[in-house]
Amino acid sequence: MTRLVMKFGGTSVANVQRIRNVARHVKREVDAGADVAVVVSAMAGKTDELAAWCKEAAPLYDQREYDAVVAAGEQVTAGLLAIALQQLGVPARSWLGWQAPILTSDAHGAARITSIEGAKIIEGFALRREVAVVAGFQGLHEPTGRITTLGRGGSDTSAVALAAAINADRCDIYTDVDGVYTTDPRVVHKARRMERIAFEEMLEMASLGAKVLQVRSVEAALVHKVPTYVRSSFDDPERPNSGTLICNEEDIMETKVVTGVAFSRDEAQITLRRVADKPGVAAAVFLPLAEAGVNVDMIVQVAGEDAMTDMTFTVSAAEFERARTILEKAKDSIGYASLTGANDVAKVSAIGIGMRSHAGVAAEGFKALAEKGINIRAITTSEIKFSVLIDAAYTELAVHTLHALYGLDKG
Ligand code: ADP
Ligand code: ASP
Ligand code: MG
Repeated sequence: MTRLVMKFGGTSVANVQRIRNVARHVKREVDAGADVAVVVSAMAGKTDELAAWCKEAAPLYDQREYDAVVAAGEQVTAGLLAIALQQLGVPARSWLGWQAPILTSDAHGAARITSIEGAKIIEGFALRREVAVVAGFQGLHEPTGRITTLGRGGSDTSAVALAAAINADRCDIYTDVDGVYTTDPRVVHKARRMERIAFEEMLEMASLGAKVLQVRSVEAALVHKVPTYVRSSFDDPERPNSGTLICNEEDIMETKVVTGVAFSRDEAQITLRRVADKPGVAAAVFLPLAEAGVNVDMIVQVAGEDAMTDMTFTVSAAEFERARTILEKAKDSIGYASLTGANDVAKVSAIGIGMRSHAGVAAEGFKALAEKGINIRAITTSEIKFSVLIDAAYTELAVHTLHALYGLDKG
């Protein structure tokens, strides 16, 4: 018998009517004979609302209580979907993270799943033909008995990890687009849906800003070999399309050098002026940031003539203030003349496995951006991608430019 995990994101469960529509998608699979576990997100906008309430209550809130608050959104939709399924005559029950249980680390707000106990869910399939409706995003840190959440977009990861735990044949991620596109279809209307995308490319796309899947869900799909599809919840439940399969590189026919363009406006740039150009300075700058758990992304160092240098790097916008405070405290040990920061920057990236075997791909991109008058503040490259940091105002122009340059626009 087929065993499936079906995940529905926030827009797909935004109100009771849409939850009823989701129930029809689930019923289709149950009628076809599958055992189904469903993972749901909170209704669109709910998690933002709950998070904002925490901030309003106290700017420096207790992360453990934040998790108790924001996990509430998924509790509501899990219960509602179970009700909607029962209404269609499909046996169903809800499972909260602590009930399954989905066990996690204690990194509140960004917890990692350590294990999922699938036995009771499987028993429900076997004994009662019962659909398990699992609240996404949330888990339990068993030693402390506290509720945790997996970080924004974490229901994707709940779904893939659950699919691995119950040994599902497939994990279907239903969302408000009908698959993974060459870039965000909301920004570039000519973006094309891909039939398939390689794990490595999807990992880069997700980590460079394409929020269609949470990065950790792609990692989990790769590690546990879960066939994962991204597809639309707005398809007719009786006649759905197949979406995009995340798969191994060898299983892809179409070969393009660049397969996708991603962008992130969630960036901040920090520049330290006149730092001594000598051994140990980079460590003095980046160690305190690392110790505080601040992720540094792009780094550019410009050597001056008098043994002094300027150092520019980026952190996520959310960590900007924290990074600035840490560096100001460490001013004496680092030794710099001034610190400047900018929040109005964006990172635009081109991704493709084909870059491994083609030279000059990034250079063409830089040229095309220059022709549009877009100034590049920093660059990073790896084997299968390059990223540029630019003024946020030029984000869309840069994405359009690269998308067209690499032949990704619809014909
Ligand atoms: P959900 O609530 O279902 O989890 P998300 O909003 O998290 O949905 O992710 C879906 C959104 O991701 C789409 O509406 C789309 O705007 C955005 N997106 C960004 N990049 C891409 C891409 N390359 N392909 C498809 N969607 C993308
Ligand atoms: N509701 C959570 C969020 O908005 C988790 C998710 O939707 O995946 O981030
Ligand atoms: Mg999402």
